[in-house]
Amino acid sequence: MGEKENTRFCKYCGEDKPHIYTGKRNAMGAKIYVDENGKRWDAAKCPSCHHAQMRKVYHRRKRAGGNVSKNRAHNDMSIQ
Ligand SMILES: [Zn+2]
Repeated sequence: MGEKENTRFCKYCGEDKPHIYTGKRNAMGAKIYVDENGKRWDAAKCPSCHHAQMRKVYHRRKRAGGNVSKNRAHNDMSIQ
């Protein structure tokens, strides 16, 4: 359970991920952290989880434009 420097526990994937302060702040004044590839953390969400969620939203939007009758009930239940 030893907390290493420059890592942070991501509660979304349950792993310790690289968490490196860039020395910069965003428009809100919050410190900007990146992983070892320079991808930005989104609050407590590691870049991998952030991108996974973005993909999901993209697919949902795409699907919503077409025929959604079959998946609709399931999707509505999972969006809470
Ligand atoms: Zn994660």
